[in-house]
Amino acid sequence: MSDLSDFDDMYQEVIIDHYKNPRNSKKLSGNYDETKAHNPFCGDEIELQLIISDDGIIEQVSVTGRGCAISQSSGSLMSDSVYGKSIEEARNINLNIRSMLKDEELSDEDLDSLGDSYAIEGVKKFPVRIKCALLSWAALKDLIDKH
Ligand code: ZN
Repeated sequence: MSDLSDFDDMYQEVIIDHYKNPRNSKKLSGNYDETKAHNPFCGDEIELQLIISDDGIIEQVSVTGRGCAISQSSGSLMSDSVYGKSIEEARNINLNIRSMLKDEELSDEDLDSLGDSYAIEGVKKFPVRIKCALLSWAALKDLIDKH
């Protein structure tokens, strides 16, 4: 966890909690969409499953994988942030996460949309880790863009 030592303590705690107790990690059954994402720079893997309703709501989410704390924690945080959201909202949150990690300015509303995923904000200080943090978000984009 040495890579987390520069994070603000509160966010470090959130990240470690999601790493140790990943949310929405139960595989789905039924009619789900699935994608896998791989970060060759770090060896991280994310498997994402979504069930999206006919009216475009993310009704069920499953995130599993292996790899560094940032990648796995970010996957868990992502699943919480988009659970129950519309595709449009999820797309917007995805853009806001990317803007945050590029150190662009976000409105209060955009920051609120991120939910606990705001905890990965400190990753922007470690460019090599940004790919880890965005792996699950890339998987999400992959699935919702197809929808
Ligand atoms: Zn990684």
